[in-house]
Amino acid sequence: MSGADVKLVLRSTRVVTPDGTRPAAIAVADGRIDAVLPYDTEVPSGSRLEDFGDDVLLPGLVDTHVHVNDPGRTEWEGFFTATRAAAAGGITTLLDMPLNSLPPTTTVDHLRTKQQVAAPKAHIDTGFWGGAIPSNAKDLRPLHEAGVFGFKCFLSPSGVEEFPELDQEQLARSMAEIAGFGGLLIVHAEDPRHLASAPQRSGPAYADFLASRPRDAENTAIEGLIAHAGRLNARVHVLHLSSGDALPMIAAAKREGVRITVESCPHFLTLTAEEVPDGATEFKCCPPIREAANQDTLWEGLADGTIDCIVSDHSPCTTDLKTPDFASAWGGISSLQLGLPAIWTEARKRGHSLDDVARWMSAAPAGLAGLTRKGAVEAGRDADFAVLAPDETFTVDPAELFHRNQVTAYAGKTLYGVVKSTWLRGERIAADGAVAGPTGRLLERNQ
Ligand SMILES: [Zn+2]
Repeated sequence: MSGADVKLVLRSTRVVTPDGTRPAAIAVADGRIDAVLPYDTEVPSGSRLEDFGDDVLLPGLVDTHVHVNDPGRTEWEGFFTATRAAAAGGITTLLDMPLNSLPPTTTVDHLRTKQQVAAPKAHIDTGFWGGAIPSNAKDLRPLHEAGVFGFKCFLSPSGVEEFPELDQEQLARSMAEIAGFGGLLIVHAEDPRHLASAPQRSGPAYADFLASRPRDAENTAIEGLIAHAGRLNARVHVLHLSSGDALPMIAAAKREGVRITVESCPHFLTLTAEEVPDGATEFKCCPPIREAANQDTLWEGLADGTIDCIVSDHSPCTTDLKTPDFASAWGGISSLQLGLPAIWTEARKRGHSLDDVARWMSAAPAGLAGLTRKGAVEAGRDADFAVLAPDETFTVDPAELFHRNQVTAYAGKTLYGVVKSTWLRGERIAADGAVAGPTGRLLERNQ
């Protein structure tokens, strides 16, 4: 321990570190982890001890895929409610997606507007992705320099007219521009031609919706992305992978040195097409939740490292937009507060440990965004933690969630893993379902 400035020591018999889970005491100074010490280290006089017993101390989760929709569509969510829900769910860092807010994050002015709105409302540390749309090629470098963590683009319609998709030529041009300044392009990968030729039937049947968003749309888009990224030596990231068919080509691209990373989401990894009731559009998202057999391949992709991260893709809306018609209902699943227990429930069933969960939900997303102070319980990082009772269960009651709208595909599910408390830079920001006031900071790339 370095000494005088350590005011807080946290300890647990199960601390999840990059080298495995073990009993440890964590000395905190000035909001950072000063040292990770043996469990029975003497606590310096003047320091406060928080002992979590056998509850598991995880690194605070990093969720790099959240649609906060603020300003502009704050009836859908907002920085106050989103970050409060995140804090209650063990998340200490969030990156906001560039679309569904008005304005979208496609210029530096728009970024500044969003930062101003977010600053007083953020319960956790919050950063921003920029957007790459056909009209803003000249804004990409200024946005990069202003601190966005990378750029999101679509290859098929996004669902909102202010955020148009890129065609293949625009994709290649944007990718080259972004690679030119060492940036990261993150991609909603569904090919528009495959979507256009798929059967489009409206109504309450989930099978019809699933048929309208075939795996081939994802597979083809990802194939094209790999080709562009390889040719341009560009860094790309596949958002919300749903099609397990794409895993072999992604694994091959990684082996060949293509700079590609991949995320999947709790809904693809814990919910299945077979269980979606007719008209239950709280399960609608794009790409869609697929069959149980496909889900097994996604878990294999996580186990062998082809899939790097698990992030929420929390994309809420008001209840009235979730009409029972799958074709017209808003697509997006609300899950910010539930990602950790949802994934832990499935992971433990499949023989994975909380070390795996911490890697997928904290270390890897922090690495994706270059957040070197986040993502691990080790000296020098921010003292951000989630304290989890992994063997306790609870049943999801949407009315008890902090999301702005009480619509979620997880309603009524019994999940393992109760978040007992959440710590941000050495301060307890959530405990036993109550969340303190906003003390999050705004993050910029390379801070
Ligand atoms: Zn999304």
